[in-house]
Amino acid sequence: MSGAGPIRTTCPYCGVGCGVLVTPDGKGGATVAGDTAHPANYGRLCSKGLALGETLGLHDRILAPRFHNRETDWDEALDTVAEKFSTAIRDHGPDSVAFYVSGQFLTEDYYVANKLMKGYIGSANIDTNSRLCMASSVAGHKRAFGADTVPGTYEDLEEADVIVLVGSNLAWCHPVLFQRILAARQQRPITLVTVDPRRTATAESSDMHLAIAPGTDTSLFNGLLHRIAAEGAVNGDFVTRHVEGLSEAVAAACDMPLEAVASVTGVDTNLLDEFFSLWTGTEKVVTVYSQGVNQASDGTDKVSAIINCHLATGRIGRPGMGPFSVTGQPNAMGGREVGGLSNMLAAHLDIENSNHRALVRGFWNAPAMPEKSGLKAVDMFDACATGQIKALWIMCTNPAVSLPRANHVRDAIEACDFVVVSDITETDTTRIADLVLPATGWGEKDGTVTNSERRISRQRPFLPAPGVARHDWQAICGVARRMGFGDAFDYQNPAEIFAEHAALSGLAARAGRDFDVSGFASQTYDDIEPQLWPSPGTGTADERFFADGGFYHPDGMARMVAVHPRTSPNITGPEYPFILNTGRIRDQWHTMTRTARSARLSRHLAEPFVEIHPDDAHANGIAPADLVEVASQHGGIVARALVTDRTPRGTLFAPMHWTAHWTALGRVDAVMAAVTDPTSGQPELKRTAVCLRKA
Ligand code: SF4
Repeated sequence: MSGAGPIRTTCPYCGVGCGVLVTPDGKGGATVAGDTAHPANYGRLCSKGLALGETLGLHDRILAPRFHNRETDWDEALDTVAEKFSTAIRDHGPDSVAFYVSGQFLTEDYYVANKLMKGYIGSANIDTNSRLCMASSVAGHKRAFGADTVPGTYEDLEEADVIVLVGSNLAWCHPVLFQRILAARQQRPITLVTVDPRRTATAESSDMHLAIAPGTDTSLFNGLLHRIAAEGAVNGDFVTRHVEGLSEAVAAACDMPLEAVASVTGVDTNLLDEFFSLWTGTEKVVTVYSQGVNQASDGTDKVSAIINCHLATGRIGRPGMGPFSVTGQPNAMGGREVGGLSNMLAAHLDIENSNHRALVRGFWNAPAMPEKSGLKAVDMFDACATGQIKALWIMCTNPAVSLPRANHVRDAIEACDFVVVSDITETDTTRIADLVLPATGWGEKDGTVTNSERRISRQRPFLPAPGVARHDWQAICGVARRMGFGDAFDYQNPAEIFAEHAALSGLAARAGRDFDVSGFASQTYDDIEPQLWPSPGTGTADERFFADGGFYHPDGMARMVAVHPRTSPNITGPEYPFILNTGRIRDQWHTMTRTARSARLSRHLAEPFVEIHPDDAHANGIAPADLVEVASQHGGIVARALVTDRTPRGTLFAPMHWTAHWTALGRVDAVMAAVTDPTSGQPELKRTAVCLRKA
């Protein structure tokens, strides 16, 4: 597979999961092209993927372990981690330690981290930055379907007649998937609808833009459900055979006739009526949702409100229709599959289900397994601040920047007795760690990832590890061996880890669960082609789930959930009169540790900015390009004013990417409140009450 010719690998950025062909130049660089044979992108790459070759190099790389500013070797480093964790566990119990990992981990890294924490340390205190990205979708899927199942595939977007994009700037955040939609729209009519308070690039390419008031998605989709019921558009046969909870969900939506929806969302009645008619009158509808839905204090309810409409109409699991969550990170899905969230277990099993625990415990021959969920991301760092967590291992992520209330998180990391950070470059978080471990990065790592449509692809190495950098799974296994768990962590390569993961999934599938990659075991690891799961060990499986029911609640039925719109705790007032919304821009990725190396990418939007409506700018004496200060009770930033009516009056928008590393003007997540969804634990990164003034 990866002999002569380009190396076939996968882009390390968004959840589209594009295939990339890499031709190394033998001097540490490489040229990059889209893989025409990869079913996620068929050769397309977006600006970030095309610039991957420009982001290689050793600038700022961490090349050796470092303990309190003193370079050390791996033996001393791993001995120290094992000793600190073992001491904390001995003195304070297993829940005094924690791992905080990443949707950019490869599945094999994720698997061993989860196995060590949940099966051997005996705590569920492993959570991931995917908590910030799609935990509300996971929770919504589980309560509707009985499992965290994404029903459809990317082809459904090309086969749909109507695509509704809710809280998703797909044109910038999942560009290749958006390009696929636009290409399909040139072949036949597809009506694109964007639901977003901002007039994004996606909205500007859509046929219809519902600029709802921030946070009113539940009211919109309750209104749609009300219309579905009122028009007799319920698929009675599907509901009778496969769905519970219709009458309760419809009753919860009974106070949402058209006029009420218009009043709450601020969308014109005629436009709403047109949208509802389009949705109810079109069989092939896909509703895509992303961070604008998930990152809310009622994100799970928003997901349920969307899924309710698809279940009521039976529009799920068949070509061109279904609810579709798109993930932000390249391997958020793989993390879900191995149980990287603190409330899940491996193979889409539940940690609070005794049968599931028994299955995994037996398979792992695990000495200990927690019965309750562990700390979710925001709570984990609060527990560091209060001293509950004594030892923390952060891998492949930069929480001192990316978590809400980031100043508090930075202080919590500094307050924790022992913090080890594994990363490839210096970040705001490595600078305050006790111990830093040099990890391998994209181009050096070897493993698998799963994209938003459940397609597993290989990430293949094409560069040697720099310095003495090691793969994350190797570092985790090194610590596990030193903690006395050597037999269970004696992996020689990622293929052995994946084989174990696949075997566990087969066991879970035979116990009636959705996740099954046991069929991958028949392939040589390096030859694995990009492939959707389920992939059972014998026979073939449908690419889509639920066309004829088969949900994963014990009775096989799906659940519609009665949801009532809730008001966010992040309300404005005289002191903080604006709502601050955050998100991605087209050409940067997360905290810019890789994309900032490409001058070409930085030309798109070169510095931090705040979008301000012209009326708000005028009222506050702010001219275009002025420096402005945006502050909440948690912190503030200074950024350039971008005066535009793309963002509605009373709200501001700032990108999430810039950090103290790139600018002295602050990091936007220091401003954001840490209010979380009570079900999913996902923080409300789309909404914090702030004040605005000219700097
Ligand atoms: Fe990479 Fe996403 Fe762009 Fe594809 S769309 S090239 S996965 S960033």
